[in-house]
Amino acid sequence: MEFSNYKAHELKDIIAKKEASVEEVTKAHLDKVENVDSKVDAFLYVAKEEALKDAKALDEKLSKGEELGILGGVPLGIKDNISVKNMQNTCASKILQGYISPYDATVSENVKSQGGVILGKLNMDEFAMGSSTENSAFKITRNPWDLDRVPGGSSGGSAAAVAAKEIPLALGTDTGGSVRQPASFCGIVGLKPTYGRVSRSGVVAYGSTLDQVGTLGRDVKDCALLTQAISGVDHRDFTTVDIEVPNYLDSLKEDIKGKKIAIPTEFFKDGLDENVKKAVYDALKVFEANGAQIKEVSLPLADYAISAYYLVACAEASSNLARFDGVRYGHRSANAEDATDLYYKSKNEGFGKEVKKRIMLGTYALSAGYYDAYYKKALKVRNLIKGEFDEIFKNFDAIISPTAPTLAYKIGEKTNNALEMYLGDIYTVPVNIAGIPAISLPCGIANGLPVGMQIMGNYFKEDTLFNLAYSYEKSTNWHEMHPNL
Ligand code: GLN
Repeated sequence: MEFSNYKAHELKDIIAKKEASVEEVTKAHLDKVENVDSKVDAFLYVAKEEALKDAKALDEKLSKGEELGILGGVPLGIKDNISVKNMQNTCASKILQGYISPYDATVSENVKSQGGVILGKLNMDEFAMGSSTENSAFKITRNPWDLDRVPGGSSGGSAAAVAAKEIPLALGTDTGGSVRQPASFCGIVGLKPTYGRVSRSGVVAYGSTLDQVGTLGRDVKDCALLTQAISGVDHRDFTTVDIEVPNYLDSLKEDIKGKKIAIPTEFFKDGLDENVKKAVYDALKVFEANGAQIKEVSLPLADYAISAYYLVACAEASSNLARFDGVRYGHRSANAEDATDLYYKSKNEGFGKEVKKRIMLGTYALSAGYYDAYYKKALKVRNLIKGEFDEIFKNFDAIISPTAPTLAYKIGEKTNNALEMYLGDIYTVPVNIAGIPAISLPCGIANGLPVGMQIMGNYFKEDTLFNLAYSYEKSTNWHEMHPNL
């Protein structure tokens, strides 16, 4: 059996039926990482010994007749800004090089207790700032569909490793699209849950009011399984909400009769690649054929979402990243003259260009003279955008759009044009601004590259997203197309 070809839910069944041990499945994926990752460069750390040890412990449990939980012995990878005890947590930054996490993030604890085997830590844009994974201080991850192209970002390592079948599942984080956009570029499924659905404890903060841990897999069921394993209230994160987590597997039904889907006119305007537009319009016909009702709506303030997002995200980042001062964690400058010089030099040597830029922008937006003009105004716009979504969800179950305006672009193509790179987040950031959930799933191939569509839902309606996504997936076969590596 070539285990890496199987989805997580299939591997879970194989293990439960004792057709293979957790150790065999783990080894097969570690071999795959060894064979493929030199091309893709998705991993920053391969946890070979730890994974084999965990796998043996799970096999032991099985031999005693114990159940392995929701993830049932399946391997997965974790973005390098989510703490896993005794593993590095660099956020792909030099400032955290050599830092070993002394504890598990709640989500890491969850995946372990639900029978997940962690194979390692995945590459990303430094501190999750970026859309292409080119901002990593350590290496550039490549898109498995075309190694000259970016995998998207900032969770590019997570998406590329799943698409390359190095692992069936991965965790990422999504502040403005960082799970959905790389899922779209790599032809896999990625979910950003509702703000407050999943704990952020132990996850390095970028924009605290926008960040959420998200899940990536090669089909909707896998994404639902991993979401099930990490969702729920956590006493270590007071922004998590105590609303019951439904059984997401129950929502994997083909029937979507009577579901109302809104299509925002503003999301299909200028700047949208024709191939992407066509693929999403074709997908809408599938939803209609499956019984959904589709209607155009307007989200006029969506045009301001990028500006509001980059102000809020940078402001929060400038505050969150103040803790990396060379004293408490990671890199400390070797040639500082006094305490102030130590802060200055450590930060200057440790942070990359994009991170420095955002700290400066954020500090500026929060400074006494400009707070009202920039930060406060961005918060007002944020409220208005949220209001527009609330209005739509009074009459609709979901909103559908492209995930990104373009296909995966060439490495280096946008590195000198920040604005163009930021505009790539146009359809994903409104979701974080409002705090609603959204899923990206494959809906076509154009020029040999995957196209992704985004389904957005009302607060805590992840189950509706899974239902719609599953129904579409059952009627198409885009999720069965994989890159040739
Ligand atoms: N591309 C966006 C940014 O650079 C979103 C990143 C993210 O979601 N972490 O901020």
